[in-house]
Amino acid sequence: MNDTAQIPTTAGGPTAAHGPVVELAGVTKTYPGGVHALQGVDLAIGRGELLAIAGPSGSGKSTLLHIIGTLDPATTGSVHIAGHDTATLTDRQLSALRAQHIGFVFQAFHLVPGMSAQDNVAEGLLYSGLPRAQRRSRAAQALERVGLADRASHRPHELSGGQKQRVAIARAVVGEPDLLLADEPTGALDTASGQAVMELMHQLNQEGATIAVITHDTDIADRLPRQVRIRDGRIAQDTTAGTHAAGREW
Ligand code: ADP
Repeated sequence: MNDTAQIPTTAGGPTAAHGPVVELAGVTKTYPGGVHALQGVDLAIGRGELLAIAGPSGSGKSTLLHIIGTLDPATTGSVHIAGHDTATLTDRQLSALRAQHIGFVFQAFHLVPGMSAQDNVAEGLLYSGLPRAQRRSRAAQALERVGLADRASHRPHELSGGQKQRVAIARAVVGEPDLLLADEPTGALDTASGQAVMELMHQLNQEGATIAVITHDTDIADRLPRQVRIRDGRIAQDTTAGTHAAGREW
């Protein structure tokens, strides 16, 4: 099951360790039928950032998430993830890139039913090449990091929604990815659990994680240090805390 695909290093040196985690230049996406979902997106995400990619329904957030997550190619423009030019990689190399560099968190958790929290988190290391015992011990540490050490043997149906999402976050970060991509992570949660999940995002960010939260919720976006606001497939506004006097026009 190990994916041993080698990801070629970008010419010119160790950009993966020092450059931006994400660098999009002139990215467009046109779906069959002529829908121009993205119309020229330039976006750089540096190491250690915590940002929202926000916008109303239909603005292009999911399309952008799929392109940053290397799940879907751009129609035109360039996409570099951790220094790798994704256009030059095969499907196997893209899978390896995702496994090594990106952690995903989804609104609906996507935990494996009938499997303990610890084993669910260990799934995040499936392609790491580590033996099972080490995957499980790292998973236990990751559960501790998200405050769920005492729930390690619980299965998903024995956990609350907020706890399930924290397990999913532990699974996403257990391999210490360069980027955590969270797609509406609080969308299925009540307000209090949602707040706890966002506090966890802040905590992980303070510990060094680079995190992009995709959301249609302006309240969530406004609480993050940077907001990239998408509208009609374009970046309408890109702010950092204290500099968003231009307002929230959507
Ligand atoms: P958001 O996530 O902000 O709701 P999307 O990225 O899902 O926005 O969609 C942006 C635009 O692209 C919308 O007009 C949507 O209808 C269209 N779209 C999304 N996915 C597809 C697809 N697979 N085929 C055709 N059009 C699509």
